[in-house]
Amino acid sequence: MSFLEYAPAPESNAILNLKDSYGLFIDGAFVDGSGSSFTTISPASEKRIAEIASASDEDVDRAVAAARRAYDKVWSRMSGRDRGKYLFRIARLVQERARELAVAESLDNGKPIKESRDVDVPLVASWFFYYAGWADKLDYAGLGANPRALGVAGQVIPWNFPLLMLAWKLAPALAAGNTVVLKPAETTPLTALIFAEILQQADLPAGVVNIVTGAGATGAALVRHPDVDKVAFTGSTGVGRDIARAVAGTKKKLTLELGGKAANIVFDDAPIDQAVEGIVNGIFFNQGHVCCAGSRLLVQESIHDEVVDRLKERLSTLRLGDPLDKNTDIGAINSAAQLARIRELSDIGEAEGAERWTADCAIPEQGFWFAPTIFTGVEASHRIARDEVFGPVLSVLTFRTPAEAIAKANNTPYGLSAGIWSDKGSRILAVADRLRAGVVWANTFNRFDPSSPFGGYKESGYGREGGRQGLTAYLKGAAA
Ligand code: NAD
Repeated sequence: MSFLEYAPAPESNAILNLKDSYGLFIDGAFVDGSGSSFTTISPASEKRIAEIASASDEDVDRAVAAARRAYDKVWSRMSGRDRGKYLFRIARLVQERARELAVAESLDNGKPIKESRDVDVPLVASWFFYYAGWADKLDYAGLGANPRALGVAGQVIPWNFPLLMLAWKLAPALAAGNTVVLKPAETTPLTALIFAEILQQADLPAGVVNIVTGAGATGAALVRHPDVDKVAFTGSTGVGRDIARAVAGTKKKLTLELGGKAANIVFDDAPIDQAVEGIVNGIFFNQGHVCCAGSRLLVQESIHDEVVDRLKERLSTLRLGDPLDKNTDIGAINSAAQLARIRELSDIGEAEGAERWTADCAIPEQGFWFAPTIFTGVEASHRIARDEVFGPVLSVLTFRTPAEAIAKANNTPYGLSAGIWSDKGSRILAVADRLRAGVVWANTFNRFDPSSPFGGYKESGYGREGGRQGLTAYLKGAAA
């Protein structure tokens, strides 16, 4: 099959007003860091974007002290109504600067501009709008009498949705009356630093939000800091375990949003065209760098060949390349390290006997890229069926009965999300009820809404983000 070629449609990056180097954002101002700085690059071109400060233990200490002062003197004394006004203002500024934020996100992360523009940034604004609305209603939310903030929250986030994860963390924490020190991931600090400028524009009182950039050591200093009351972490299960150990025995409250290996279950009565689109969205959205990605396709045996054929046909139409091009479907892999991991696990899949198919697309010379890949003939014991690849790699398994689908779906150490495709509502409800996953989508996948709680079971972590439940993680004694 041949296709008409698309003309290039790159989004201009002229809208960016980037600095050559960025400091830490502490007490309302950008300050120098005392650790050795690092460079953030574009994963699509490997070109330098900016120099980024690295926070040492002393810098983290300064940030936590600023957050404590702001908590004691300003934020904890402010009415919920006034806190809400700041959050509404931030949400509106995110909307005003949406294009700039989307371009910066795609540049630094490698994700396609159509995703950062149409998914990430609009969700960031909606998260702030949603929690702005809660700030003056905490007393009426069924969260106990007179709910009180915890104090200073230390938050550490990953690189796959840099600005969205920031919003998931900051919005509920601030609405509930906490102050924050946040550490973005080392490969994607850019939008958090532009966001710090938005906080200045919003006149948010100094110290209410502090942003410390750096690698794992900076994150470790933050979560271990004795004056932090609450730790919120999103990232890998391994680091989550370390953090749980570090926090055990302290008074700190902890929420962990970790990895996943979601089953996307397709029954033989599913609308196949829709299911194929849902499978593609489930695993190839954001290059598969999604904690809740539908990375294990469980397809009923009788329709296996049809689904796989249609999937291959559909994947052959996806356009891989420049993240800033508006026609791009698959952007760059975020880092050389992540690309190496995806390659390693894919090679293991092949060595273990699964059959590998890769979409035939041209790979640019510069940058980090991995073409959409499917493994068929995957056994439940294979590494590609068990380990989180966190890349554009789908493992296909089959089942015959609903009971077998449920058993296979639950046969994982994770439990973050799942998908069910079927024409029968009763079947969807019956199966959803037996899946050990925090989020179950029916006839859709990867849908997010600020009013809907999100979180995991087992090694996918604990606690919920989003919705009224998301507030409980930031309030004393509140139960969801
Ligand atoms: P990662 O755990 O390597 O890093 C996450 C963050 O933790 C980064 O900011 C990193 O600098 C920091 N960090 C590293 N070591 C630390 C330490 N010892 N103490 C404190 N902080 C430390 O994860 P990653 O590779 O950046 O992100 C990918 C992982 O995140 C995947 O497993 C994915 O499933 C998970 N994730 C989960 C969710 C969710 O909501 N459940 C959302 C997005 C990503």
